[in-house]
Amino acid sequence: MLFKKGLNKITPYEPGKPIEEVKRALGLKEVYKLASNEIPFAPDYIKKAVYKEINNINRYPEGSCFYLRKILAAKLKVKESQIVFGNGSDEIITITLRATIEDKDEVIIGHPTFLVYGIQAAVCGAKIIRVPLRNMRYDLDTMAKKVTKKTKVIFIANPDNPTGTYVAQKEVEKFLKSIPKNILVFFDEAYFDFAPSDFPKTFDFLKKRGNIIISRTFSKVYGLAGLRVGYAVTTEAIASMLNTIREPFNINRFAQVAASAAVKNDKFLKKTRSYILNEKEYLYKELRRLNVSFLESATNFVLIDFKKDTSKLNNYLLKKGIIVRTLSGWGLKNYFRVTAGLHKENEKFIKCFKNYLNTEA
Ligand code: PMP
Repeated sequence: MLFKKGLNKITPYEPGKPIEEVKRALGLKEVYKLASNEIPFAPDYIKKAVYKEINNINRYPEGSCFYLRKILAAKLKVKESQIVFGNGSDEIITITLRATIEDKDEVIIGHPTFLVYGIQAAVCGAKIIRVPLRNMRYDLDTMAKKVTKKTKVIFIANPDNPTGTYVAQKEVEKFLKSIPKNILVFFDEAYFDFAPSDFPKTFDFLKKRGNIIISRTFSKVYGLAGLRVGYAVTTEAIASMLNTIREPFNINRFAQVAASAAVKNDKFLKKTRSYILNEKEYLYKELRRLNVSFLESATNFVLIDFKKDTSKLNNYLLKKGIIVRTLSGWGLKNYFRVTAGLHKENEKFIKCFKNYLNTEA
């Protein structure tokens, strides 16, 4: 057989529908995407940084991300040699597994959680141990009990996607005490910038314990999802290995200048965070008014429990030019996820959702 064992059992990752695709397919002029936990606009200061870089497109980027590395390390107060950049934090997950997994090693993940852990662990031939969430929250006690001599990596999406729930400082502290030090614990903090104040101080855990990877991204509050840049902070030894096996030019020129501008622009970060968190509150308020069940979330999205199959609702919303994320890929046919967008987008979503509920009733 040409392909590795088990690849034919993998369900491909199905991203949120692109705006362009929905416009083409349904002949719509205006489409609002509330499906992929992006922010709803392209920052102007980023556009300027990217335009300036255009004269260098004939040259490879610096593989080391020299300048970005310097300013990010200074901001995070870590050594430059502790950072690994990835083509999105997706790539950090992929190279971590490529670097660690040998046949039948075990990887512990939650369920439901971010799908890329399971897909990439399967590609690497890992045995995947899925631990169901309890009340839609990571069940760290059960995850700790699943550790065996074959366990290599444990993934904690914190906050989790698609639930939006998080585990707090005290829970993680207790969890780490019970995990042997030779096991790599991977904290995926893609939504870190939206998280509340009792969020775990994972950099302190990294200092004390070692053998931890913390991954973060420029795709969310910074608004760079289309440029693809994320990073890991870890020990120098792990960083060195991941840097050895990553592709040499994985962060393109535009991504490097854009991320550098983003690191320096705290004002934008604060403003955007507060706008999105207000909009999330607006969604909560309106969903309560519609008497719809949802989970309060530590992210920029909300998981809605529709209590019945969401396909018809999804088609209705698409025709109205609104893309939300159905979750059958996660085995959650009765749920969908909506990202907090611009106020007018959120308003339109609520209006259409309400109309649908009224016509259905
Ligand atoms: N982790 C989680 C939990 C996510 O939800 C996402 C994006 N949806 C990612 C990682 C990957 O983000 P990116 O590759 O854009 O950095």
